[in-house]
Amino acid sequence: MKINSCICPGCCIGCSLYLVESEVEEGAKEKIKVLHRKTGAVNEGKLCKFGTGLHAYYEREALNNSIDGKAVKQEEALKEARESLDSMKPEELAFIALPGTITNEEIVSFVSLASEFGCENVSFGFERFFKGIPEEADYIIEKGLPFTEVEGATKIILFFIDPFVHYPLLARRILKAKKNGAKVIEVSFAKNERGIADETVLVEAMEVERIKERKEIFEESLIIGELTPYTNPQFLSLMLWLKASTSSMLFLLKPFLNSTGAFLLGGNGKEARKRKDLFEILEGVEKGEIKALYLLETDLAGVMFESEEVAKTISKLDLLIEQNAFRTALSDDADITICSEPFYMKKGTVVNIEGRVLEIGGESEKGLRIMESIGKERLYEEVHEAVKKRLGLGNPEINEFEIAVMREERDFKVAEPKMGIEKREGEEGYFLWYKTNPFFWNGVTDKNFVEISAAAMRKLGLFRGDEVEIVQGVREERMGFKISELPDYLILSEAKLAITPVQGLLTRVAMKRAEE
Ligand code: SF4
Repeated sequence: MKINSCICPGCCIGCSLYLVESEVEEGAKEKIKVLHRKTGAVNEGKLCKFGTGLHAYYEREALNNSIDGKAVKQEEALKEARESLDSMKPEELAFIALPGTITNEEIVSFVSLASEFGCENVSFGFERFFKGIPEEADYIIEKGLPFTEVEGATKIILFFIDPFVHYPLLARRILKAKKNGAKVIEVSFAKNERGIADETVLVEAMEVERIKERKEIFEESLIIGELTPYTNPQFLSLMLWLKASTSSMLFLLKPFLNSTGAFLLGGNGKEARKRKDLFEILEGVEKGEIKALYLLETDLAGVMFESEEVAKTISKLDLLIEQNAFRTALSDDADITICSEPFYMKKGTVVNIEGRVLEIGGESEKGLRIMESIGKERLYEEVHEAVKKRLGLGNPEINEFEIAVMREERDFKVAEPKMGIEKREGEEGYFLWYKTNPFFWNGVTDKNFVEISAAAMRKLGLFRGDEVEIVQGVREERMGFKISELPDYLILSEAKLAITPVQGLLTRVAMKRAEE
């Protein structure tokens, strides 16, 4: 039996835990068990449903080393990868890594690898957000805040975020803040049934930007919101405008564990402004301008809403190299697959949303060595030193109980934002609101129903056991349903559906009773 102290890769909080590997007979599947690590600085032993079910996450099918679908030794796959990348023009290349299971050291190595081949198309999923905001506001995207700021706040505004769903361990911090006397106000389309807020400011679907008229409620507050690759940039501008025009702080959580590490080491706002973002890269592939893609530990089709379209676009590439511990929906299409180690086995560090530098706890340098052997050929120690230097870490080095990456609050100005509301002919009546959770961003479906209002149930003539069909143009999704306290027009989904959020937040759809 081996006990590994490690970090949950489910979201930017980075809870610590133990993973116990039991000894199994040769050839049998490894059994992994999750244990709580009560001394963990981030979570004091507590885990959400995703964290406690982490064994299932690690029991997925491993990726092998292959060239054109044929199993090969890793050295052969690496040689082929190097030669194939070398044969492409720099502008035909792109490198994508959504920073869920990559270490700081791997981020540094990944960016160096791209630059070895002269490639500037490197995406960690958030580049587009820097393009529409003033540089002085970059720090709000790049860095989070320690949870002591949450616990010590006197007023917390939950801005279209449901901590119980989006970031479960954040909910505990908000409850602590309430105990300490904080007032919690939620700004939302619907009241949270779990009653975490003292006050709810309800916003109509078509009138999100009218919250600007109530900016006085944001004074002296800590605004908590979320930034994902699908956030509407106008919605980000609205949050920044509210922060800039009041005496408040803005704390944006992100779905990927090492997002902060990616901003600090892989490309800050200044660098991101010069790069193509995730969607521009996919557009480039679609147009045939980008011909080769290196995907690092990213289940692109699993994570993105338009799974089928993404897979179709990716199939147009001349070269797809996938480096991952596990197989993904794109592995069959990959020209070269390179097998790395599961996250908990990695040697290296991440930066959580609070700014703590956390050691993963493993001993394997495999993922980093793969990239270094194609690229600069540095040792782990060299790259780790570069990470420490760039994060400003001294000696004694890494301590999970310290906030190593602090942010400084700054004043900035943003133009008053105008939120575009999606207009779509022929479909009306309902808005779909995605509440994404750690399962969602890790390509796992844990809910097979949507939530609708009792009025919608009556209107559609639904009975217990029926299903609904949600329609967006040619896209349709059939789901079970549950009645919740929601406005009549709202459909709430924690599961990924075939419906694409065109402008983030709310998506106009039609809904009907599904035929048997
Ligand atoms: S998913 Fe996030 S909140 Fe849940 S255990 Fe993992 S790190 Fe903690």
